[in-house]
Formats: sequence, structure tokens, C-alpha cells
Amino acid sequence: MKLWMKILIGMIAGVIFGLVAPTASLWIAPLGTLFLRGIKLLIVPLIFATLVSGMTSMKDLRTLGRMSLKTFMIYILTTMCAITIGLMAGLIFEPGAGMHLQVTGVQEAAKHQSLIDTLLNIVPTNPVAAMTNGHILQIICFAILLGISINIAGEKAEPVRKICDGLAETMYAMTNLVLSFAPIGVFALMAKLMTQYGMAAILPLLKVIGLAYGASLIHILLVYGGSIAAVAGLNPLKFFRGILDAQLVAFSTSSSSGTLPATMRCAEENLGVSKPIASFVLPLGATINMDGTAIYQGVCAIFIAQAYGVDLNMTAYMTIILTATLASIGTAGIPGAGLIMLSLILTSTNIPMEGLALIAGIDRILDMARTTVNISGDAMTSLLVAKSEKQLDTSIYNQASAKF
Ligand code: ASP
Repeated sequence: MKLWMKILIGMIAGVIFGLVAPTASLWIAPLGTLFLRGIKLLIVPLIFATLVSGMTSMKDLRTLGRMSLKTFMIYILTTMCAITIGLMAGLIFEPGAGMHLQVTGVQEAAKHQSLIDTLLNIVPTNPVAAMTNGHILQIICFAILLGISINIAGEKAEPVRKICDGLAETMYAMTNLVLSFAPIGVFALMAKLMTQYGMAAILPLLKVIGLAYGASLIHILLVYGGSIAAVAGLNPLKFFRGILDAQLVAFSTSSSSGTLPATMRCAEENLGVSKPIASFVLPLGATINMDGTAIYQGVCAIFIAQAYGVDLNMTAYMTIILTATLASIGTAGIPGAGLIMLSLILTSTNIPMEGLALIAGIDRILDMARTTVNISGDAMTSLLVAKSEKQLDTSIYNQASAKF
């Protein structure tokens, strides 16, 4: 049976198990934690080795510059589309209308780094510390510099290049090993989640959940599917099929960074994206590209504003679009990060911070959808960049369904 089918079965079985056997679900919860630990252990060596190995195969600095520019442009454009779709969904369907909540106290906004600090922080002062602390952007920065330096050093650095190539291959093999445990891990994660939430937390906010999920689906189909068909001239169905197991892992772990090994495997083995492109675009995307989070912010900001009767003007909408796009750069791809970013948006537009409490109760449910969108956006970008750089193996892409 194909991996995505096994994961899907694990997920559905987990939901049912969590609802009918809550106590037993807590007993098996360590299996979910085990799976998460397994995929987290891959992240640092996988990003490091694959990126260095990718860089050394990309000797021309101009190619690197062009690729980075394309990647950033696509990331920013799709994030702006996402936040606009989220805002529109909130304005059309008015999830918070008629709630008439009153502000009772003032909650403190989350502290956030300035844009300059965020950018400066990308350069590590100690690359080993960056690895031990799992700072993905810093690891990316060091790996790019190392790759370029290996190219400059030439013949003498050959042993270093070979070690990184070998390590990259080893990490791919380890990724496959860990992912074969995904169905069981996902089963345990879903069972625990259902036990923790149950229907009582979900029902009152069903409209917000429905809107966030609906807007996410529209974004995936229209923006990603549309770009793949119109810009790359490829069949989008193959893309959706090809990234399905990464999407299922994202949905059940709520972490783009945690899903990274699965996203990289899908992009290379099912979509035909070349290793250098996948190892550059995807780790970067897992840290800075968050379209799902942007949709969520649009929907939730409008919902809270409506619930508290706050009128938003054009400037407020523009502020939301800009803040959400910029804030996503400094946020990690970990569960719950979007909720902290939401507090930033609320403060910058004078929407009551108390509204966060409404969302916090269902945040995990929303996080599942937004993380799925986040990694789909990364994968789509790797596909578009690979296609335009002539580094896409279309025979693999066209067989995407056969691979699964
Ligand atoms: N959990 C999301 C991710 O990892 C980030 C967020 O909370 O919005 O992509």
C-alpha cells in the first residue's frame, strides 16, 4: 500500500480512536511523540548536508542569485494573495457578526523583533550554536557560505564536498526510514488531539473553523493550482497527488519545520524537483513562507474585530496585509507560532487583544490547516523555480501518481 494511504488511514483511525477511547489514546500518545522526535532529529543534518551538497553542484553565483530572487518574489506574492483571501472570506461571511463582546481589560502584546534585527539574526555568530539551537535560517546562511567557499577552494576542498554529499545521501535514507513510521505516529497524534479537544471546544467556533479551512482550500486550488497550470504549464493534479504525504504529515504535526524532511522527499521523488533547488527553496520556505498562517490571520482579525464591534478602515486593511506579510518572515514553522503573530496584527490595528482567547481554544485545529497550506506553498515554489531553471524532471512529475 502507498505511504499516503497508510498515513490517511492512520489519521482517520486516530480520530475515531480518540473519540471512542480517550483514556487509551493518552496511553498511546508517546508513539506520536516518538514520531515527532524522529522527524525533528532529521532536520538539522538534513538541511545542512543537502544544502551544502546542492551549493557545490551549483558553481555559478549568478544562478544562485537568480534562484533566490525568484524564490523570494513567489513567497511574497503568494503570501499577499493569501492574506487577501483570508480578509475577503471574513468580510463576506462575517463570522463574528452579532457577538457584541465587550473589552474588559488590556492584554499585553507579544514582543516581536524589529525587521532589521530579524534580518541581522540570519547571520550566525557561531554556526555550531546555530545547529545545536536549531536556528534554521542561520544554518541555511552558513551552509550557503560553506558551499560557495568549497567551490572557491576547488580541488583542495574536494574531501569536504564528498563528505557533505555522502552525508546528504545518508540523511535521505534516514528520512525514508523515519517516514515509514508515519502512519503509526500520525494515528497516535490524532487520537491524542481528539481526546484533548473533543467536540465541545469545536462547535461554538465552527464558523471560523469552516471559513479558515474553506479559504485555505480556495488558496491551494486557485493560487497554487492556477500558478502551476498557468505559469509552469503543468497539470496541477499531479502536484496535489505528489505532495499528499507531506500534507498529511503537516496536518497532523502542525509544524512546517517538522514536515520539512517529508516535503523535501515529495518534491524530489514525486515532483522531480532537482536536489539543489529543493534543498535551497524548501528549508527557506519552511521558515519564512507561511501562506496558511496569513489566511488564518486575515480570517481571525476580521472575526475578532466583528465580535467586538470594531470598524476597520482601508488603512487598517493595508496594515494587516503588510504586517502579516512581514511578520511571517520572522516566525518559526512550529505549532502555535501563528497565534503569536496574530497578536502583533491585532495591536497594530487596535483590535482588542482579548479576542485571542477566543481563538486560542481552537488554535490547534486551525494550525493543522494553515501548516498544510504553508508546506504546499513551499513545494509549489520549488516546482515553479525548478521549472523556470530547467531543473525539473518532467518524466518524474508526470508519473507523480504512479510513485504513490
Ligand atoms: N504551525 C505553523 C507552521 O509550522 C505556523 C503557525 O503556527 O502558523 O507552519
